[in-house]
Amino acid sequence: METFNVRVSLQQESIFNVEIEAADSEDAEEAVQVAVWEDEYTDEIRQSLEILDEQYDAEEICPECKRWIDKCECKEDE
Ligand SMILES: [Zn+2]
Repeated sequence: METFNVRVSLQQESIFNVEIEAADSEDAEEAVQVAVWEDEYTDEIRQSLEILDEQYDAEEICPECKRWIDKCECKEDE
């Protein structure tokens, strides 16, 4: 078995509704935006999350020095 570093790239979308009390619509949007950034809707985000695109890129690495296998100089030292 070889060792690989796999770079995971996900394009995700999350659409959900939040009910909130506010002075006006601008105030409501701002309050919800702050709450999103402060991780107050992690459950809602997780439940509504859809993966739109995904990419996995595996590169073999040296298990000892963690460098790409073609940049590894471990074996040359032996
Ligand atoms: Zn190495």
